[in-house]
Amino acid sequence: MTKHTATPMEYSTSEGVFQIGSEPHLLTPGPLTTAPSTKAAMLKDWGSWDGEFKAVTAEIRSRLVAMCNGGDDYDCVLMQGSGTFSVEAALASFIPKDGKALILMNGAYGARSAKTLDYIGRDYVTLDKGDYMPPMPEEVDALLAENPDVTHVVVVHCETSSGILNPLKGISDVVHGRGLKLIVDSMSAFGAVPVEVQEIPFEALVSSANKCIEGVPGFGFILAKKTALEAAKGNSHSLSLDIHDQWIYMNNTGQWRFTPPTHTVVAFLEALRLHEAEGGVQGRLARYTENRDILVSGMRGLGFETLLEDEWLSPIITTFFSPNDPKFDFTQFYEEIKSRGFIIYPGKLTVADSFRVGCIGALDATVMRGVLKAMKDSCEHMGVINFGPPDGVR
Ligand SMILES: *Cc1c(COP(=O)(O)O)cnc(C)c1O
Repeated sequence: MTKHTATPMEYSTSEGVFQIGSEPHLLTPGPLTTAPSTKAAMLKDWGSWDGEFKAVTAEIRSRLVAMCNGGDDYDCVLMQGSGTFSVEAALASFIPKDGKALILMNGAYGARSAKTLDYIGRDYVTLDKGDYMPPMPEEVDALLAENPDVTHVVVVHCETSSGILNPLKGISDVVHGRGLKLIVDSMSAFGAVPVEVQEIPFEALVSSANKCIEGVPGFGFILAKKTALEAAKGNSHSLSLDIHDQWIYMNNTGQWRFTPPTHTVVAFLEALRLHEAEGGVQGRLARYTENRDILVSGMRGLGFETLLEDEWLSPIITTFFSPNDPKFDFTQFYEEIKSRGFIIYPGKLTVADSFRVGCIGALDATVMRGVLKAMKDSCEHMGVINFGPPDGVR
């Protein structure tokens, strides 16, 4: 495994002289901490129509198709904007105007897909499991039996709002067993959790530059069956989010239809090379899993409790209940941890106060041990003695 060892590198801005990587580690689900060479790749300006930049675009597309083992049947379309732009683009482009979706919801990102369909005017039904219960394949099957007009099922792979890894394979089997189409929001999992089309023959899968491939924010990507890309013609309500149009144009010219985030794109290619050097998806999964295991066992050792049972914990991000101690205050806790060099993330639960700690990005075991020490020292400094959640939160 290649370690991302930072070579000391200084840079200066109008605010002063800095060392690359001297900022706090981001224990967040993206934007996340990137490798020095990924940052360094952004120091050059590129013409978007230039042959060298077109080659970068082409290499990214083919590397991403290879990552899902898509062979000749799948293609990759890059789309400007944050991940949500690409999800919206996919929902609008792949679900025809007379189609109907089943949206599996167990957190903020599933809910966002439903809201998106309200905006773009597609019919849908939902399976809403609340904050963190997984949508189980049998209940998806039962709902599909009750709703024979459903054409597409939309599932979030890792629901980043709780950190749960949803049972994608089982859901895929049910959906494809009924001859329906699957659209996967694998934003926070793709690149670290294996998804191969031979096992999960999705219609389309969406992810973005600043999650497990460890690039910087600015664009998303859609992996899709070529037949789906062809059939998407005329479906989109939006010019800028029309995946079919972007696909045709990229294939014909090698360019993006509208201004691409050039620096982000070039940094992403460097991130893809680091991903390969680490051993691809398996290598990345191994490092993130180790990060998660160090974090979870260390936090439990301190007395914190995870929201989820072990079976559902993802190697992406973990939700911990906030300590039920009168001295605990999240804002102060956040600042204490930040002053020790780490940025954590607030929780998104309705059942109880919580916070989240990510395992993704250019972070390794040493960083995770540093986080644990920061957690312990911060709580001590605040005078927190009871780390467990209030009774009966689950
Ligand atoms: C990050 C993320 C998105 C996209 O969020 P943006 O803020 O638009 O980048 C969508 N779905 C999931 C599951 C995510 O983790």
